[in-house]
Amino acid sequence: YIVLGIETSCDDTSVCLYDRYSPAEPPRLISSLTASLDNKEFRGIVPSRAINHHQQHLARLVSQAVCPANNAAPQITPDLICVTRGPGMRGSLSVGVEFAKGLSVAWGGIPIVGVHHMLAHLLTPRLLTNGSAPRFPFLSLLVSGGHTMLVLSVSLLEHRILANTIDIAMGDAIDKSARELGLNGNMNGPELEKLVQRYDESVRGDGRDDDEVVGIKIRLPMQPKPGRPQAAAFSFSSFVSMVSRGIAQKGGIDALSESDVLVIAKQIEDAIFDHAVDRIRYTLSTVPRDEAAGIQDFVCAGGVGANLHLRKKLKEAFADRAMNFHFPPPELCVDNGRMIAWAGIEMWETEGLHSTYDIMPTAKWSLEDIVGEVDGWRR
Ligand code: ATP
Ligand code: FE
Repeated sequence: YIVLGIETSCDDTSVCLYDRYSPAEPPRLISSLTASLDNKEFRGIVPSRAINHHQQHLARLVSQAVCPANNAAPQITPDLICVTRGPGMRGSLSVGVEFAKGLSVAWGGIPIVGVHHMLAHLLTPRLLTNGSAPRFPFLSLLVSGGHTMLVLSVSLLEHRILANTIDIAMGDAIDKSARELGLNGNMNGPELEKLVQRYDESVRGDGRDDDEVVGIKIRLPMQPKPGRPQAAAFSFSSFVSMVSRGIAQKGGIDALSESDVLVIAKQIEDAIFDHAVDRIRYTLSTVPRDEAAGIQDFVCAGGVGANLHLRKKLKEAFADRAMNFHFPPPELCVDNGRMIAWAGIEMWETEGLHSTYDIMPTAKWSLEDIVGEVDGWRR
């Protein structure tokens, strides 16, 4: 059967078409189309601009997907529509959800699956293996612009959030810290990664020891202290203020040399990723031994999961746990329609679940409650 995937939870409009020609093979990609919104001048996402963007592009992308040869060839009619229902920005979600309902009605009442966006992120590696790896139970580090969570997935519908951020998300901290350093892109994560790459190639290679290279002061938050209980949680907001303060103390951004910028970029990545590793290590130490023994897979997904330095740190830090790591290709780490289609396929095929026409965009929606309290499901 043919599956249409639609993702509009944030500011990228993304659509894909899959041919689920066999339950024993990964679905075959027919098309994948994304229209990204340029937020450069707006210092982040403006909800009303994101809604306008989806309204301007969604119909065109779906039309291109189902009529690839511009009406010359017969239209492909999907059999299942998978659309992001939440969590995300309500207005943005609403454009995708209502459009999906309209298509379902027009295409003879074909089923819709209202997909949980974070579930889709964590299932992404299974898309490429047709659900054979990772196997439940598995761990996921979900790191994006809006979320930072360590999740234990027991089954398709049962997830336990082992650790969450108490303030902002890792991607948000990276974007904001990098902005203090003068980066001004749509997504600063990839640009920061390039600076760190240049650091590795140039500053490191010039013969100086690391401690001769003077950067700024960045302390890791939530370090153990006598008399203070450790927390199974993350915290990223202090990084932004430490970077801001550190750069100000060096005389502001205009006073930084090129190598200063590279050194600070490296410090930002290291500090943020080291904090994540440190808190994951503590959180895993709280998982009962017999339960931990059953976990053999570790997924790192979400936009920041595309970062190669983060991947390397995770692999090194948890080498002793003999876990298989799963890192989706970068284009599947950031928001995309393909992961939404796959999550919908899993819900439909293994649970027989689909959504009723009265579903609403669900801006706040816990991974621990995918079906439970959330209505609008039918088997
Ligand atoms: P959510 O999935 O929580 O709703 P989102 O839609 O903002 O949030 P994604 O598209 O999954 O999330 O991720 C975007 C974030 O990932 C941005 O903060 C961006 O800077 C970050 N990011 C993308 N690529 C990289 C990279 N190579 N290194 C570090 N960060 C990156
Ligand atoms: Fe996302």
